[in-house]
Amino acid sequence: MAEVDATIVAIANQKGGVGKSTTAINLGAGLALQGDKVLIVDLDPQGNTSSGLGIDRSTIELSTYEVLIDEVQIDDAIEPTSVGDLHVVPATIELAGAEIELVSMFSREMRLAAALKPITDEYDFVLIDCPPSLGLLTVNGLAAANEVAIPIQCEYYALEGVSQLMRNVQLVKQSLNPQLEVEGVILTMFDGRTTLSADVVEQVREHFGETTYKTVIPRTVRLSEAPSYGEPIEAYDPMSRGAIAYRELAREFRRRHGRT
Ligand code: ADP
Ligand code: MG
Repeated sequence: MAEVDATIVAIANQKGGVGKSTTAINLGAGLALQGDKVLIVDLDPQGNTSSGLGIDRSTIELSTYEVLIDEVQIDDAIEPTSVGDLHVVPATIELAGAEIELVSMFSREMRLAAALKPITDEYDFVLIDCPPSLGLLTVNGLAAANEVAIPIQCEYYALEGVSQLMRNVQLVKQSLNPQLEVEGVILTMFDGRTTLSADVVEQVREHFGETTYKTVIPRTVRLSEAPSYGEPIEAYDPMSRGAIAYRELAREFRRRHGRT
């Protein structure tokens, strides 16, 4: 059991396909394998993180939906994964409805924050995998978090929408969660063969400075294959470039958080 409350990190970018779920799974697994107790909360109705961690959707009884809407104890929705110290609260497509159901609910922005309270002392890190939108689910993720980590794909229009995300972070900080900070920007799907990828890296480092992680995640087929086997890259192919990169990202993340 962790001695202090978990650091809660929302992994957010309202753009889809930038590597949020891949980062939640593989940073989460990396941290757990390096000695931390980690909980991933899947806040995306697509449930990619849940299936990528080997959770069979048809067997899920309690999920993020019941935690947010029915006030089910989060403890009852936590599932183990193939990595010992890594747990997950899975999501199902039902969660798509929560975006609308939450609108008329009491304390609609703070429901995830309230749900996490009783268990934060049991984990070192809680990673919240946000959906690709800036709706109430993402607001719940930001309101529950201490920090935001933003994956940015090394592709055309990489920074598109990021200023909108930053505005939302500021709004949540002002009105709901004064401690919220952007902790890190993670460059994903870097393709060493293109000058475009290198240009994006430069552009992002210029814009975000030291907030940008030094570790850059390469685009590799192995990383895209691993989820269909329900395994983090560390289990699927620990010698691959993707595994090495996420291991290094976890090291850098732990150093930033004063863990050695
Ligand atoms: P998001 O959660 O932001 O929508 P995902 O993590 O699901 O993004 O990634 C989108 C797609 O790209 C998925 O099919 C995933 O397997 C693939 N992918 C993610 N990161 C990489 C990478 N570094 N190299 C190759 N494919 C990747
Ligand atoms: Mg995702």
